[in-house]
Amino acid sequence: MPKDFLQGARERYDTIVIGSGLAGLTAANTLARSGQSVLLLEQHYKLGGMATWFKRPGGHIFDISLHGFPVGMVKSCRRYWSEEIAASIVQLKNIRFDNPMFSLTTTFNREDFTRLLIEQFQVPADNVRAFFDAARGMNFFDDQATTVGQLFERYFPGREDVIRLLMEPITYANGSTLEDPAISYGIVFSNFMSKGVFTFQGGTDRLIKLMHEELIKSGVDVRIKCDVQKILVRDGRVAGVEVNGRQIEARAVVSNANLKATIFHLVGADHFDRKFREDAEAVRLNNSSCQVYMALKPGAELDESLGDLLFSSTAPLFRTEALLSRDVTSRTYSFYYPRTRPGSDRSLVVSSTNARYSDWAGLSSEDYEASKRDLVETTLDALARYVPEIREKLDHAEASTPLTFRHYTKHMEGASFGTKFEGLAVSRAIPEQVGGLFHAGSVGIIMSGWLGAMNYGVIVANDVDSWLLKSAPMTPPVASVS
Ligand SMILES: Cc1cc2nc3c(=O)[nH]c(=O)nc-3n(C[C@H](O)[C@H](O)[C@H](O)COP(=O)(O)OP(=O)(O)OC[C@H]3O[C@@H](n4cnc5c(N)ncnc54)[C@H](O)[C@@H]3O)c2cc1C
Repeated sequence: MPKDFLQGARERYDTIVIGSGLAGLTAANTLARSGQSVLLLEQHYKLGGMATWFKRPGGHIFDISLHGFPVGMVKSCRRYWSEEIAASIVQLKNIRFDNPMFSLTTTFNREDFTRLLIEQFQVPADNVRAFFDAARGMNFFDDQATTVGQLFERYFPGREDVIRLLMEPITYANGSTLEDPAISYGIVFSNFMSKGVFTFQGGTDRLIKLMHEELIKSGVDVRIKCDVQKILVRDGRVAGVEVNGRQIEARAVVSNANLKATIFHLVGADHFDRKFREDAEAVRLNNSSCQVYMALKPGAELDESLGDLLFSSTAPLFRTEALLSRDVTSRTYSFYYPRTRPGSDRSLVVSSTNARYSDWAGLSSEDYEASKRDLVETTLDALARYVPEIREKLDHAEASTPLTFRHYTKHMEGASFGTKFEGLAVSRAIPEQVGGLFHAGSVGIIMSGWLGAMNYGVIVANDVDSWLLKSAPMTPPVASVS
């Protein structure tokens, strides 16, 4: 008899959270701490969503999305999780760039970027100051017509090298392009520039374990291997979910699943008005990623002068198209030293590139496997430029593709950062369409990434609290739900 992953689950909860990405986890924890009964349903056998890891024989543990986040994570983790989690966040001090236009090392904060722009790039100090002030002053209510490209042209006209320095890491960090609204860039860039790039010491596995313990302490009913098939709606209000063949009632549902999958697959287009449906259909998914995971033999070391993060490119100019191309010219390497994973003597390298789902989706299984092997081999060749002895030191290497991300998180087209900017307005408008239904998860660049997703979870938890306070008590049993 198959295991019942819902054994002991109640008939009804105040709130059901679908998905345990950082937004779902944080929303669930915040709601339970405020006294609500919360059921968290995750389809995978692990919590974390994109914030995840995997193990391979030989003691290797690979992090998928632990490459860097802004200092704001310390405050958010302290406030919404625990002091222990917040205290494990440490700075990555050596961020490197190497491309045909320049090579440099930076602490990736405003002070150091100002120095570099003035001394190395010879930009007038006034322009640098004005640019940083403009980026920091941006907020969501600003003019959304100005693009990132226009913003750069205003302060650094004709300076392709400066644009590359300022844009390449942010494109890597959230897939944004020169055509996106400038505020999506300004907010994310300023978040990083305030103090630099940070990581979680001990790895994603430790973080998610600590978060799981907090959820249990807060009273969240946490369930893995629970794939929600349907969000149930009656008379314009959410009534519960259908999961693993059961219907469970709730006064509010928070979906942490992909925005478009939530609207069109889990709820169904019929429950939304025409204008909303059109807006939701027009939302563009963000691009996906490929990664190559490389583990060194026990005891083999990486020279720490390699840095923590290396933005490497052989493309003569910075072009979004080139970043997405299957003909890879740009790679971001994360170097993990044993100190980042205390207790292990292993050194690891993860190479990440932005990628298109369509370049991988139509392949036969033989071509798909061959393409993955090619990705591993070409990445090892490219890495040899920085770690010449990589092939002799290597113990294990494998690749993931957009299909891998889709498989494990159910994000449509394996989108790494949810949707493009326009997804945010659609995500926020869902409760006006279906009472008690909310979405919290990667949308609109600002609300994605570890910090963005976590903070969005808190914002939505507050919305749910207000809704529950003003809405009528529990809806009647779901037997009559359509
Ligand atoms: C390769 C890569 C590198 C990245 N690097 C960084 C980085 O360095 N720094 C950074 O800040 N961010 C990074 N990110 C982005 C960051 O990881 C994500 O933006 C963030 O973790 C997303 O959180 P989320 O809450 O939106 O949910 P997700 O992580 O997208 O999780 C959604 C969850 O919902 C579950 N789910 C979906 N459908 C259902 C269903 N029907 N029933 C039950 N459960 C369901 C999924 O299984 C998943 O667990 C990276 C992402 C990728 C892919």
